[in-house]
Amino acid sequence: PLYKGSVTLKTGLFINGEWVDPVDGGDLIDVFDPASRCGTASGKVITTIPGGGQQDVDNAVKAAKKAFKTSWGLKVPGSQRGRILSKFADLLENYADELAALMSLDVGKPFSSTKEFEVSTAVNVVRYFGGWADKVHGKTIETNDKKFAYTRHEPFGVVGEIIPWNSPLISAVGKIAPAIATGNTVILKPSEITPLTTLFIADLFNDAGFPPGVLNLVNGYGHTVGSALSLHPNVDKISFTGSIITGRNILKASAESNLKSVTLELGGKSPTIVFDDAVLDQAIKWAAHGIFYNMGQVCIAGSRIYVQEGIYDKFLEGFTAFTEELTSATGQPFEAGTRHGPQVSKGQFDRVMGYISSGKSEGAKVQIGGESFGQEGYFIKPTVFVDVKPSMKIMQEEIFGPVCAVVKFKTEEEVTEWANDTTFGLAANILTENSARAIRMANALEAGVIYVNNATAGDINVPFGGYKQSGIGREMGEEALHAYTQVKAVHLNI
Ligand code: NAD
Repeated sequence: PLYKGSVTLKTGLFINGEWVDPVDGGDLIDVFDPASRCGTASGKVITTIPGGGQQDVDNAVKAAKKAFKTSWGLKVPGSQRGRILSKFADLLENYADELAALMSLDVGKPFSSTKEFEVSTAVNVVRYFGGWADKVHGKTIETNDKKFAYTRHEPFGVVGEIIPWNSPLISAVGKIAPAIATGNTVILKPSEITPLTTLFIADLFNDAGFPPGVLNLVNGYGHTVGSALSLHPNVDKISFTGSIITGRNILKASAESNLKSVTLELGGKSPTIVFDDAVLDQAIKWAAHGIFYNMGQVCIAGSRIYVQEGIYDKFLEGFTAFTEELTSATGQPFEAGTRHGPQVSKGQFDRVMGYISSGKSEGAKVQIGGESFGQEGYFIKPTVFVDVKPSMKIMQEEIFGPVCAVVKFKTEEEVTEWANDTTFGLAANILTENSARAIRMANALEAGVIYVNNATAGDINVPFGGYKQSGIGREMGEEALHAYTQVKAVHLNI
């Protein structure tokens, strides 16, 4: 195996700088190894962790509110917040192996990608926002009566952060770091499916120097902890990443409680558009990375691949060969050479296999894949459909698995219309050597993130978020700082 060490993990809730048990005993949540089905019907249990409830959320909110008023927020200069975030980034870097191992264990991601990409990205995210902590400034504005006003960007207060299972570390720090940098205090709720990485990082909060109550971790289910956070009258903002249906519930909870500010990063059904003039080999690699990275469990996954007629046959041949080669690199997450692991859980495995069946029964043709792989864990072969119709479920709904469709198109106008024919609007990939066309397409596509000659390659400096039903608000880049601050305007009649 690529990782031979061992990791000691504290389990519990981290509230006000201490590990505590849930007040009323809480839920016991089994964490499964998705690469193995041995054990119970759902697989092998790695560990069981306690999940909190309403009372625990209440205690965390009280601690976070107190910390905001007494030891963080406007009490602490940005430079100090930045220093603590920088120390936190160093600690994450020191424990890169342990973090990568935990992520590979409970998500099933190949260890090579968790170590080389996920942990280093997370470290960079924390450093990046640590750098912003003393640079969030307002403006001076001349008023009509020749006097002036100025603006301040102030934190909201207590922020609830609810994250999914597909990239638990990047999702956690992508929300923690900008919230903390701008002076908010945080209650983090990871997915009940993949809580291990965030349990590990909570144990670093005190060592990094965050005062008690600034960062709290409450594990638990969505309908208990997630819902209690969203409905809580003293939570001032929720930042959520996950499915559209949960996003709607969080908006409703905000409306029913205190109209808290809400940022939503939701799902996608991203198009990848390959023009005749694309560089074929690179286009194949980008399109494949765009859909198959992390076993397709990526919100920006390019699951609808539109290929212009002149390059279609060659593309399909090369893309099929690439997919076959990736399939042969399917394996256990900790084995050298593994590039394709299992889906995260039995629920996701069943869901993705359901979409494959629906594609077949609606008349699409399987070009390659279309079935599960082996008996051991929740492995699904990378799957490519052809002969699809726009109305098919596999063309309309987010699959969140290693499944895509390849469709032939003739003109730029036609493909623009097809690509935009979706309720989602997260990302779009354009593969072409024609710069004028790339810019025309980037302007015409209804998506918050456009990749030209690239795919699923975000950058911390650049805002990330969706159009249409893919979300509200932005993360990453300077935009993320606006998501965690509110503007105060001060008029001076002096
Ligand atoms: P999910 O919505 O089921 O769960 C996400 C989180 O919300 C979990 O922590 C869950 O416990 C919690 N939750 C569930 N019900 C809740 C409720 N009623 N109130 C409050 N919280 C609740 O999503 P998932 O299955 O974990 O993740 C997959 C989805 O996430 C996909 O749709 C994917 O596209 C999306 N996603 C989006 C991005 C992005 O940045 N846009 C990134 C990753 C994943």
